[in-house]
Amino acid sequence: PKLPYDDNNIFAKILRGEIPSKKVYEDDGIYAFHDINPQAPVHVLVIPKGRYVSWMDFTEKASDGEIAQFIRGVGKVAAMMGLTDDGYRLLANIGQHGHQEVPHLHVHIFGGRQLGAMLP
Ligand code: 5GP
Repeated sequence: PKLPYDDNNIFAKILRGEIPSKKVYEDDGIYAFHDINPQAPVHVLVIPKGRYVSWMDFTEKASDGEIAQFIRGVGKVAAMMGLTDDGYRLLANIGQHGHQEVPHLHVHIFGGRQLGAMLP
């Protein structure tokens, strides 16, 4: 079942400044911040500022400009974290089977060490 956007989700609160976060990068369309429970030396989350639950929602409803800004932004943040030479991993958990916990689209950036093989 597709959920409507919930303005009380934790990343909406972070975007509104209602709960603190460690900012890495911000522009008019995206916000990037350190994950509170890092799984690698670099573990950053990148989110669009728009109200999108998941990847499906985003790619269906966002403008081409918003999508380009988000995807370019993810690359920019990875470069800012010094990950481009050795490589890194991007991950988006989507919906129930994807084990998405926060219902505001986010891409994880993992890096800073040799990562293991991807889970199924
Ligand atoms: P997912 O929805 O992709 O399963 O993961 C949500 C991610 O958000 C988790 O890695 C979790 O550690 C992170 N997270 C949850 N709550 C907060 C928070 O309040 N602040 C920050 N910075 N990260 C959070």
